[in-house]
Amino acid sequence: MDVDVKSIVHDVFTNEIFAQELSDISKEIWTNPELGFKEYKAHDILTNFLENYGLTVERKYILPTAFRATFETAGSENGPHIAIMCEYDALPDIGHACGHNLIAEVGIAAGVALKTAMDDEGNKLTGKLTVLGTPAEEGLGGKVKLIDAGALETVDVAMMAHPSNKSIWRPKYLCLQGLNIQFTGKASHASSAPWNGINALDAAVLCYQNISCLRQQMKPTWRVHGIIKNGGIAPNIIPEFSEMEYFIRAPIKGELDSIVDKVICCAKGAATATGCTLNYKLIQPGYWSLISNNTLAELFEKNSRTLNLEEDSGLVRYGGSTDMGNISHIVPSIHPKFDIGARCHQHTRDFATAAGSPDAQEITLKIAECIALTAVDILQNPSLVQQMKSQLQEDLVQEHSTK
Ligand SMILES: [Zn+2]
Ligand SMILES: [Zn+2]
Repeated sequence: MDVDVKSIVHDVFTNEIFAQELSDISKEIWTNPELGFKEYKAHDILTNFLENYGLTVERKYILPTAFRATFETAGSENGPHIAIMCEYDALPDIGHACGHNLIAEVGIAAGVALKTAMDDEGNKLTGKLTVLGTPAEEGLGGKVKLIDAGALETVDVAMMAHPSNKSIWRPKYLCLQGLNIQFTGKASHASSAPWNGINALDAAVLCYQNISCLRQQMKPTWRVHGIIKNGGIAPNIIPEFSEMEYFIRAPIKGELDSIVDKVICCAKGAATATGCTLNYKLIQPGYWSLISNNTLAELFEKNSRTLNLEEDSGLVRYGGSTDMGNISHIVPSIHPKFDIGARCHQHTRDFATAAGSPDAQEITLKIAECIALTAVDILQNPSLVQQMKSQLQEDLVQEHSTK
């Protein structure tokens, strides 16, 4: 039976009209880059496509540019619920330099292929498929808002894939917490009566230096990077207000919490030294590390070999952060990265060019097929879901360790 279901999936991907449609959609999203929570065109293009292929579409699901497209078999409540994520937001000025047009393409292609396999009664697959349109991955945390609104509540497994300059099936992403720091002092004439002032810029400078001193005690995988957003208004006025913004990152949540505390202490010290008042707040949402579920990743790996998809070898380094990390802390997830032939990192103009190139299409469709085949494996072996969930609970214990 395995071979039959998988050949149905494969047949979907060998259909040239389907491949051309997907390529056109990807290119249209790429040509019309839209920033987070403003992806109206992408939302319409993707939902129209999924509806045409027979999925039940909920447009503007929870958020104005999010969507949910579902398909379920008879008795679906007794089978696994598999979610495949689409992203489709772009970056300011440099367009689809993170290649989210290709993430959307993977999501809808895998979704339609899986729906086709589930729709064939001879396959006896039982379960539910959701293609979830998740806007604003670039810093605004669309997935976090969807989680908070309950969009993942009945989901058992979540998958997506991200274009890159390397193929890595279990990439590493850091937890990320933004921190806004404000110092308030007292203005005074900087030449005639500086002793009457309380210098908020001095507080910001001391805070910056305290954090720099902290670096010797930071693990090589931790990242603390920030700016002074406001450092006063004129040289002849003692600055009465200063503002800083930091991003703090660490591989696991336990470490992130500890380093956020240390950075806040640096700010408190600077406030004490200068006599300024300190206000700080955590910038929401925080992004959590990506937990690649081992059982799920192994299924993906097995399928990748049958499709002759090769993973790059060598050390996997930490990259940035993703809101798929937050989902991976709730349901077993994978977020493999695939090499689209770019010889540059993401968030560059060259990567945007690569993400819009016809050369990226072949690997994008193969990765979509690999995700669809992995979903078929889960529907055929539903007991794997419990194994994945137990694995996630073990991973979460590690995640909150502070050692
Ligand atoms: Zn990005
Ligand atoms: Zn991205």
